[in-house]
Amino acid sequence: MRDGAEEISQKILDTYRGKTPGSKAHQEKAARYLPGGDTRTATYFAPYPVYMEKGSGCYLYDVDGNAYLDMLGNYTSLIHGHAFPAIVEAIREQAVNGTVFGSAGAIQYLHAEHLCRRIPGMDMIRYCNSGTEATLFVIRAARAFTGKEGIIKIDGGYHGGHDLAEVNILPDIETDGPPRASVRAGVPASVLQDVRVVPFNDLAAVASLLETDAGRIAAIIVEPVLGAGGVIPAQKGYLAGLRELTDRFRVLLIFDEVITLRLSTGGMQALTGVTPDLTSLGKIIGGGLPVGAFGGRADIMARFDPAHPQAIFHSGTFNAANMVMAAGLSALKALDKAAIDRINALGERLKEGFNVAFKQIGLRGQVTGIGSLNQVHWCDGTLNNARETGRTLSAAGELPGLLHLEMMNRGMYSAKRGMVVISTPMTDAAIDQATAAFSGALDMLKPYIAARFPQLVAEK
Ligand code: PMP
Repeated sequence: MRDGAEEISQKILDTYRGKTPGSKAHQEKAARYLPGGDTRTATYFAPYPVYMEKGSGCYLYDVDGNAYLDMLGNYTSLIHGHAFPAIVEAIREQAVNGTVFGSAGAIQYLHAEHLCRRIPGMDMIRYCNSGTEATLFVIRAARAFTGKEGIIKIDGGYHGGHDLAEVNILPDIETDGPPRASVRAGVPASVLQDVRVVPFNDLAAVASLLETDAGRIAAIIVEPVLGAGGVIPAQKGYLAGLRELTDRFRVLLIFDEVITLRLSTGGMQALTGVTPDLTSLGKIIGGGLPVGAFGGRADIMARFDPAHPQAIFHSGTFNAANMVMAAGLSALKALDKAAIDRINALGERLKEGFNVAFKQIGLRGQVTGIGSLNQVHWCDGTLNNARETGRTLSAAGELPGLLHLEMMNRGMYSAKRGMVVISTPMTDAAIDQATAAFSGALDMLKPYIAARFPQLVAEK
């Protein structure tokens, strides 16, 4: 089809290949030992992922010496960017004294105390090594405490990679009715016996499930802003409605704040005034090192006390490793209200700038999100849940991938699905740079879009 679209996509690919021969060479060697050349599905993209070599502040540098504004922040975890001086110092100090001791240590309760003071629903905490483990154990805690096994999760909600979390990790976009629960390769279908799936922002769906099934349901787990499902904020009243329903039906409410803790000093629960029974955490609380944590009501968390007569077993070789706690505590101390307000304001500027670019260039697109956390979508109109995000993505075909590559060609590194994240080293200049790159990329893609996705061209 010679409609100009092919030339544009070829040019984007050629430019990427031309800029990144070093990454390609690494990919060829890596693919021999790492399936697909990568070790994380979310960082892989075609034709081959970029190989980064160094990070400093809000910039990343690849093996060919190209600089990128880092708008991925290791999927939201690097809230202070790369090599933040206070964190580097904390790591250096701890490294020379040992990284992990296989014992209790003061830094662990200091870190826990800091989080409990910030987060309304956090009376007590346990640590682990990833957000995946955090949601696994928070669910186990809910089941042990209630004596029930059923869990309600959100269609397209992301809670990591364990079996139960894998249910509808991708939303059901095939049907219009209630989402059908399903699992993907390697996850036993038996897990579906214990999971009910509801759309995000749909209180009626939760209410009707609880009316019939509350006697079997231990908890509902929800991200207060749907993250991987499209960075879609909860509608006004949704979280409060969940609190009301779960209280009424004696079911626990779990907030997965692995991503959303960054949005205020005490996460979305502090911002909305809705306090869950249990919370899972990860990402920013480790200062850039691998981490997870879960906690909440003292009466529930007491079950993790090994002296409790019905103690829940929870161990992990590297739980609360001193190095992670030291890096994490120094990151959290530097993340006061002023720092959070500043990055949230930068994020709002970015959203505004990107939305204006869509309008000025005459394309149907939008940015959703809150503060420092946003995502580009190829549709206009309100997005309410992951099914709507998923349909938008699938209707946009190659377009999100091409935008991602062209943003890289213009020195911007972001999530391939369109998420853009702010870190504290960023300034207004970084936002201007990102907005100019975005606008330039849209301009370049417009003829491609007009040829392949005419429905996305809007009246100016
Ligand atoms: N919960 C949420 C809301 C997440 O976004 C993620 C990861 N992006 C996880 C849990 C899993 O965390 P991890 O990748 O550290 O296992």
